[in-house]
Amino acid sequence: MSKKFYIKSLGCKVNRAEADDFAAYLLENGWEFSSSEEADLILINTCTVTHTAEKKTRKAVKSLCTTNKKAKIILTGCSCVIHSDFYKSLDSRIEIISKKDLDVGCASILANEKFRTRASIKIQDGCDNACTYCIVHVARGKSVSLDKKFIINRFNELSDSGVKEVVLTGVNLGAYNDLCGLLTELLHSDTRIRLSSIEPQNLTDDIIDLIADSDGKICRHLHLPLQSGSSRILKKMARHYNADEYLSLVYKLREKIPTIALSTDIIVGFPGEDSSDFKQSFDLCNKCGFMKIHVFPYSVRVGTPAAIMPNQIPEDIKQKRAKNLRELSKNLAIKDFNARKGSSELVLVESKEVSRTESYHTIASPKASKPGELISVIL
Ligand code: SF4
Repeated sequence: MSKKFYIKSLGCKVNRAEADDFAAYLLENGWEFSSSEEADLILINTCTVTHTAEKKTRKAVKSLCTTNKKAKIILTGCSCVIHSDFYKSLDSRIEIISKKDLDVGCASILANEKFRTRASIKIQDGCDNACTYCIVHVARGKSVSLDKKFIINRFNELSDSGVKEVVLTGVNLGAYNDLCGLLTELLHSDTRIRLSSIEPQNLTDDIIDLIADSDGKICRHLHLPLQSGSSRILKKMARHYNADEYLSLVYKLREKIPTIALSTDIIVGFPGEDSSDFKQSFDLCNKCGFMKIHVFPYSVRVGTPAAIMPNQIPEDIKQKRAKNLRELSKNLAIKDFNARKGSSELVLVESKEVSRTESYHTIASPKASKPGELISVIL
């Protein structure tokens, strides 16, 4: 009688890629998917990037422990590393395993219908930076690059099994040893590559040129976290660039790859952020012409330098700034999409309803298209 498992993944693309890996490994070894109530094994990939994420994680763990009284409960991910005592105290069945123990995986099954139309491969973990607001680098440790051969084999398995788009993920993807070399080796197949996110200081000229010359084989969409438009605040965040350097990078990208689409992350209400700092963030986002801004009201993470900085911003001011920036994000998304009207792009059909363009906009799926197909569409 095959054993049953249930997976709950919270947080980022890296967590999702790891959850996919683990599911593939179990399916490869005779396990089967199941509901959380019937599962013999429950895996929860936890997240603590913000206070809200931590609350969601704790709620999910408690609820799964309650709905299923027999299953073995495995926790992995950032939150259970930072708050291990809390989770172990919740239920004696809980076992916490590290990332290294989790990195198993077998790709072929990733292509089966139950998974995503877009598969992801985690190529890197950990981070050597120490942004003052961030707890992730504490939870995940130093940067490690997964074996290149292993990644290429996995990519080829996915491509051979019909996957049309693969997302390369990592906690700090750009810190992968020889990312340009890896991308060059992956360009031979029909499967297109999307980079999940890359730190501005890691976006080198050779990577930009490779994307420019790949004719869309590497998606001309980059998620480039800015975090703030104020150089004063960027310094307090211990980011590795200032506002002018970031803007120069964006201008260089738009010159070398005219159809490039850019998205970003912005933290509003970082300790000490005054209205002029916020205005600089707003104006720089406008100048960069992002197609999407992910807005995060600053969230205190205990154990980080920013958590004990003076001039913590009141919640109502954070929410007001977040609302303003989300409004801007909506307007910029429309502006970016309208600028692409009449041009053709390869879109990945994610479902009968929704498809994703190369530039990362969502559109209605073309008639009679099937999930997983890559179709050329006039926007
Ligand atoms: S780059 Fe900064 S924000 Fe990102 S994981 Fe590393 S320390 Fe955290």
